[in-house]
Parts: sequence; C-alpha cells; structure tokens
Amino acid sequence: MKWSIAAIAGLLAPSAFGAAVADKKITYNGYKAYRISTHHDDAVIKAKLAPLSPVTFNLDTSEHLDVAIPPSEVAKFKALGLDATVLHEDLGADIAKEAAFGTYDLTAQAVPSLTWFNTYHAYADHVTFFSDLRAAYPNNSELINAGTSVQGRSLFGIHLWGSGGKGSKPAVYFHGSVHAREWITSKVVEYITYQLLVQYSTDTVVKTILDKYDFYIIPFVNPDGFVYTQTTNRLWRKNRQTRSGSSCVGTDINRNWPYKWELTNGASTNPCDETYKGVAAGDTPENQGLVAFTQSLKNSKGIKLYIDWHSYGQYILLPYGYNCAARAANHARQTTLAQGTAARIKLSYGTTFTYGPSCSTLYATTGSSVDYITDVALAEFAWTIELRPSGSQGTSGFVLPAAQILPSAIEQWEGIKYLLTNA
Ligand SMILES: [Zn+2]
Repeated sequence: MKWSIAAIAGLLAPSAFGAAVADKKITYNGYKAYRISTHHDDAVIKAKLAPLSPVTFNLDTSEHLDVAIPPSEVAKFKALGLDATVLHEDLGADIAKEAAFGTYDLTAQAVPSLTWFNTYHAYADHVTFFSDLRAAYPNNSELINAGTSVQGRSLFGIHLWGSGGKGSKPAVYFHGSVHAREWITSKVVEYITYQLLVQYSTDTVVKTILDKYDFYIIPFVNPDGFVYTQTTNRLWRKNRQTRSGSSCVGTDINRNWPYKWELTNGASTNPCDETYKGVAAGDTPENQGLVAFTQSLKNSKGIKLYIDWHSYGQYILLPYGYNCAARAANHARQTTLAQGTAARIKLSYGTTFTYGPSCSTLYATTGSSVDYITDVALAEFAWTIELRPSGSQGTSGFVLPAAQILPSAIEQWEGIKYLLTNA
C-alpha cells in the first residue's frame, strides 16, 4: 500500500490533517457587537432580529442578548432602535489585535517569565509552556494526560504536589477551555499553575496550599475546538466531532457528561446548536477521557475542589445546573466560601463577581461537569467560574483585550488562595 505524504502527516499531526480539510477563515471584519437589553422579553427582541443574521454570544437572554452584526446589516440593526450598547466597534479588528501574539521566546529561559501573560498564544506554545514549567520544577510536577480528542490531540495537563509527595493529598482539579472561544480561561489556569510552582519555596501561603493538595490542571479539555478558533473561527464553542445525518459539526462537551444528561431543557438535541448534547451520554471522546480521569481522582484521595473555568459574565456558579431548586448538601458552606472568594477577587481591581447556584443564577444545564463531579465524583466543592468581562457597556465579550489577561489572572489567583486557605 502506498502512503501519501498527506496521509502520513495526518496520522502524525492532527493539525496538519485538520488543515487539509479546513474551512475558510472567518475574519469578522466590520462586524459590530452589541449588548441589547431585553427587559425580560427576549422573544420580542429575537423576533425583531429574525430578518438579520446575528451571531449570538450568550445563552441567558432574559436580561440581555449579546450579538455580532455583519457589516452589511449594521444600518438595518440601528434602524430597529433597540436599547443597545457597543461591545466591539469592529469585532474583526479586535480579533486581529488579539491574534498578534507578540515575540515571547519560550527557549530564552528555563522558567517562563511573566511577560508570557502579556499576550495570547498559539496552541503549540501553550503545550511548550507547560512542558517548560515541568522541566523547571521536576520535584513538584509531572505532565499528565486525561484522554484524547476527536482529532487525536492529548488532553494534556500538569499535576503539582508539595512536601507530602506525589499523589498524597486530596485533589484540586481545574478544567480550562471546554468552550473553545473562551481564551482567557487557559491563561488564568496557566497563571495559577505558574504562581504555585514559582512561589512554593518563598511564600508561606502558597507552600501551605501546595503541601495540602495535589493539583491536577488540564488547560485545554477541548483542544480541537481551541485550535479551530485560531485557524478558522474565533467564535467556535464546541468540539469538532461530526455526526451521521448532519452536516453540522461539534458537540458541547459540557452538556455531554453522563449525569442528568437525559433531562430536557438544559441542552439541545439539534447538532447545529451551540449546546448540542450528543446522541448518548458521554459519547464524545473528550468526555470519556475526562470521566475516567475524574474517577481516578475520586478513587485516589478524593476531590476537594473542582473548577470549570469559563468566560464571560463574571460569575461564581455553585451546584446545580440541572434543577433550579436543587442544592448541594453543603450549600450554606459553599455560599459562604463563594461570597468570601468574590470579595477577595474584588480587592485587586474592583471587579464584581456574582455568586449563586448555576441554574437559578444563570440558566439550566444538563450533562454538565459540575453536576457530575458533585454527585458522582463526590467533590466537596465543584464550581463554574465565568471570567471577565461582564459584558456591560464597552467591555467586549469572548475577545478580551490582552491587556486584561494579567489583571484577570491576578484577581483569580487571589481568590483561589483565599478559597483554599479557608475551605
Ligand atoms: Zn463556557
């Protein structure tokens, strides 16, 4: 059998394979993004927008609807006279600015420097960032793999430990980038990882935390989707799984967990929707890897804290997603800690985070990681944190300016130190 170069490259490098069948890149040049106040009547607003082709950002539309409007429709949009503020004057220009990754040289020093956090980065450089950190701190870290994506990428991560030795303490467990377009999430978990390792030998609070817990940090649980946001469509959310009988691509990995998956109204059964739940519970390869990895943590020393990092909106969301009346057994304790964490986050830059149960605070979700990890993996605390921006006037959306990476990371690092000191 004769192998073509392309076929061999496909086996060795999923990104090369993806490129061979890549869709045309969407630039969003000239798109204007708006936050429309819906005044609790979003059906009326959606009906008015029906003749246009808006790109919708958010799922919770009871108070506001965030949309990007193509340049050819901006005049028609303005003529509707809606109560709207601008999120991006030119979304394409802001995406182009964000994609200017700068000149950070990962080979220049053993430990990456803080300037890493001045810009966003290509996927391959994120992989290098973690392997460089591991190499610099071999006595407190190892690289881990929590599974394989649809296109064959590793769900890689890093495991950190303190003086008790590898795997001796309960787990603090982070997932980043399950929704591909939420770029700030991987930067924030990178910063937390970085500070835990860099400050371990000099900062008593950090030493106490890392001596008390084993950290398992998986920055990209949806690596195919993340790569796709860099090659093709910055606003892509789901994984890149195809389904027979549909030309639409992608399942929402955070609606695919095998717990309360079968309930209605918290996910979509339409493969073309952003919250498509899959054909069966746990039928994405990413979820299968994550479930097995999560079970291994449960069966080892148990899970103290799980955080699923998302953007945007500035929320700390507690269990549950599947039912707005359900509460975790330790709900009062979780609420007290969320309140304290939000207060600590606010101390750095005045950023306000709203906290409360996920379903009643935002919207219903079924098959979510937090519900699974609370009730099946029995984590003591399992939260979703929705990072910056708030989405209020002039504050952007998924495309958060690079100048806000470091402030976002610093305020979360302060919140995490507070949480793990008090939990
Ligand atoms: Zn998300």
